[in-house]
Parts: sequence; structure tokens; C-alpha cells
Amino acid sequence: MIYGALEAGGTKMVLAAADDDLRILDRISIPTGRPEDTVPRIADYFRQQRIDALGVGSFGPLDLNPQSPTYGYITKTPKAGWRDYPLLPTLLDALRVPGMLDTDVNAAALWEAERGAARGARNCVYVTVGTGIGAGVYCEGNLVHGLMHPEWGHMLAVPHPDDPMPRGVCPYHDGCLEGLASGPSMEKRWGRPAWDLPAEHPAWQIEAYYLAQLCVTALMTVSPEKILLGGGVMHQAQLFPLIRKETVRLLNGYLPCVTDGEDLIRPPVGWPDSGLMGSLLLAQRAWKKNGRDG
Ligand code: ADP
Ligand code: ZN
Repeated sequence: MIYGALEAGGTKMVLAAADDDLRILDRISIPTGRPEDTVPRIADYFRQQRIDALGVGSFGPLDLNPQSPTYGYITKTPKAGWRDYPLLPTLLDALRVPGMLDTDVNAAALWEAERGAARGARNCVYVTVGTGIGAGVYCEGNLVHGLMHPEWGHMLAVPHPDDPMPRGVCPYHDGCLEGLASGPSMEKRWGRPAWDLPAEHPAWQIEAYYLAQLCVTALMTVSPEKILLGGGVMHQAQLFPLIRKETVRLLNGYLPCVTDGEDLIRPPVGWPDSGLMGSLLLAQRAWKKNGRDG
């Protein structure tokens, strides 16, 4: 059995083939160009690898409602050529294997819950803090979808009193988390890239305040045993203690089980490959569901 995984990102596509034990046999990365160039290259690769099932973790938004006529499509992305693109149907048509699609962050949450930092947890949340902010939500064995899929990057936040840019940069919302705490928002606010801001810069306290609000909302909604924070901005290790402290402060004793947040708010162990590895788990799920009857 060979499982194929595609982690579809806005700038690059990561492709891998793995054996039954999900050991990676081969992997490549290609730039995300227009779909008419990029998708045939992806299909060629998986044909060469002779995969039996495919899992895709993709940037979104995605249509994940199996009853929808546009199931498996990327929907309203601003990314050139990818708007309303039938990603999963095109790949499955070309490859003739069973497959499953989910958001990149749901795939990452799946990996972390089943094999990684949240192993044994009933519920966990995986958050990426990078060019955008996104969250995958794993609840009692399932990845959460419904009307659409979680879009936690656009939850509204209370502005920090000392934030010089309290409305943020999101074109849709004043004061959403992505607009206030993504890498690009930090760059706009402080006039230099997030990676160039020293650890003692006040930027990090403000960043921690916003990410702590996300942690509090996570706790109050899905009651996760683990909140895993990954993505480029989380390279800043000093953020973890700041976020834990802010989370405890904002909770204000309401959840006595959260004492210091040390066990709760963690880096993902699979990062930066949690999404790719989770896509292999999606391939495995697709095989179990449809593989035997084609
Ligand atoms: P993407 O979200 O596009 O998949 P990343 O997760 O790498 O990619 O996030 C990119 C963002 O993370 C950029 O805004 C960048 O400034 C920020 N970033 C990357 N490395 C660091 C770092 N070491 N410290 C702080 N921010 C960083
Ligand atoms: Zn927004």
C-alpha cells in the first residue's frame, strides 16, 4: 500500500508518498503556480509513485460538504486562478484512487491528535500563526466541519490598549485575530518583519495578548486538552511563556484546571510537517472508507 499526501499551500505544494506505516518513501516540493500548470505536475508525481489513496490538506476556504455540488473545491481565495477550483475532483479524476480533502490545519490537528503532541487528548486545536492565522479543530476522533470549517483567524479580538494599529489589516474585519496578530500585521504595525523584532520588543507582549484571547476562546468552546501553536511567528520561543501567562490572567481563575498553561499550550511536535503527515492520515482514512470498493 502506498499513501500519497499533498499539502497545498499558497506559495508551495509539498507532495509525499509513504508506506503502510506512514514512513515517507519520497517527497518533493513545487511552487504553487497557476492550477493548469501545477495540478498536472502533482498528478504526474502521484502516478509515478503509484499511490493507492490520496490525502490533501489545503489552504482554503474549501467546500467540505459531501452533499454539495462543489464538494472538494477551493472556494473564494484571492489566489490567482484558484478561486472556485475543483482541487479534489480534478486530482481524483486524474488518479482514479480514493481520496480525502481537509484544511491544512485540520490535517495538522489530526496528526498531532493521533501521533503527535496531543496524543491521547479527546479534543485539540492546532493553530498556525504565519502569513495568515488558521485553526484546525479535532473533537473526539473527528475533524470539525459544518456550515464550512473553522475559520478562527477571523474571530474578533479585544484590541490591546497600547496597540498602535488596533483595527488590524484584514480587508474584511476591523479587529480580527488575523488582522491583528499574523506575521504581515506585525510587519505593518512595527515597520519591520516579525523575525527582525528583538525578543524584548513590546510587540511580543501585544502579540501574546491576542493569541491568549484565541486560547481562551478555544478553552471556552471546544475544551481542548492541548492547544498547539505553530507557524512562522511561533519560531519566537519567548511567545509561549507570554501567551500562557496572558491566558491564565484572562481566565481569571474561571477554569481552575488551568494553572500555568504549561501542558496545555505547546508547540506541535510535527511542525512544519504536521499538515503533510496529517494528509497521509487522511489518505489512510479514504482508503479505509472507499478503497476496497474503489
Ligand atoms: P505561511 O503562513 O505562508 O505558510 P509561515 O508559517 O512561515 O508561512 O509564516 C510566514 C510569516 O511568519 C511571515 O509573516 C514571517 O514574517 C513570519 N516569520 C517567519 N519566521 C519568523 C521568525 N523567526 N520570527 C517571527 N516571525 C517569523
Ligand atoms: Zn478578518
